[in-house]
Amino acid sequence: MSNAKTIGQTLREQGISRRGFMKFCAATASMLALPPSMIPQVAQALENAPRPSVIWLSFQECTACTESLTRSHAPTVEGLIFNQISLDYHHTLQAAAGHSAEHARELAMQANEGKYILVVDGSIPLGNSGFSTIAGISNEQMLQDTAKHAAAIIAVGTCAAYGGLPKADPNPTGAVSVSDIIKDKPIINVPGCPPIPVVITGVIAHYLIFGTLPELDNVGRPLAFYGQNIHDRCYRRPFYDKGLFAETFDDEGAKKGWCLYKVGCKGPTTYNACATVKWNNGASFPIEAGHGCLGCSEPNFWDGGSFYKALSVPTINTTQAVGYAAAVGAAVGVAAGALNAMKKSSAKKQHETVTIDDLER
Ligand code: SF4
Repeated sequence: MSNAKTIGQTLREQGISRRGFMKFCAATASMLALPPSMIPQVAQALENAPRPSVIWLSFQECTACTESLTRSHAPTVEGLIFNQISLDYHHTLQAAAGHSAEHARELAMQANEGKYILVVDGSIPLGNSGFSTIAGISNEQMLQDTAKHAAAIIAVGTCAAYGGLPKADPNPTGAVSVSDIIKDKPIINVPGCPPIPVVITGVIAHYLIFGTLPELDNVGRPLAFYGQNIHDRCYRRPFYDKGLFAETFDDEGAKKGWCLYKVGCKGPTTYNACATVKWNNGASFPIEAGHGCLGCSEPNFWDGGSFYKALSVPTINTTQAVGYAAAVGAAVGVAAGALNAMKKSSAKKQHETVTIDDLER
């Protein structure tokens, strides 16, 4: 249970060479959008950082956050990072059960008082303490007990960050988020249903390297990963800018890979790294698989859903498209770029066959 070893010592014991370590540091710096000049600082910080204790609690959740995490492909940054922490308690992954599991949590809390990172997935039911219990302890009580001596809390997944699906109307369990209960600890929200693995580990890496919280947006998300919306990084954006949309999931536009805005894509109002980091080792993300973004990393996800309804009146012709782009652009802060692109494309007929190659000319 002791975490006296530094990450550098642990890596050497595992046979990771200096060269391998520096590659890892470069990847970590890149993941955190740090310039290459900061790689030596990242290396020094990780070399000397104590191996942190992590206690992971799961409340009202579907296990997808943990499933997402375990879908990382070794040897990725995620795998390396998670080899270097001391995951002292995890409801889903631990072998221990019953009293011995709870004993492990208590021991980790005592041995690392004030230093451990508490990760929570799932919302917390306040409607009745019996709705969700672990070892006879209500979720609310376990959260308060475990948060008390944590250095920081990472709320993983939209349920822990904002209440998520359990909080959806009519919210039968009285579900709330971590930040609705804990008011005296630093909390980092890592929303997504589920979140991208590298985003979860990136937040932990930031904490290890700098010993501070990453810069957060106004709903508690790290800007390094949630600073831009999906729409601004979407590979279908050229079609949006040209006013070329799939009208249904099986029409010609869908087959040609046109923009999914009209079939309900929430990319323009959703902030996450899906379009750049992607899933399954960078293989794909929902829009690439032909389904619009659901907006799962936003507060009020689900109740605000209307998943297959467009955000606004869809573009019919170029004149309307410009007006529409202005409205959406104002909302998401991309009006100028969208308008320019729309104006440039004014000669293009809406349903003319256009491919990515055409757009890149
Ligand atoms: S509306 Fe959706 S599919 Fe279209 S460009 Fe934006 S994010 Fe991509």
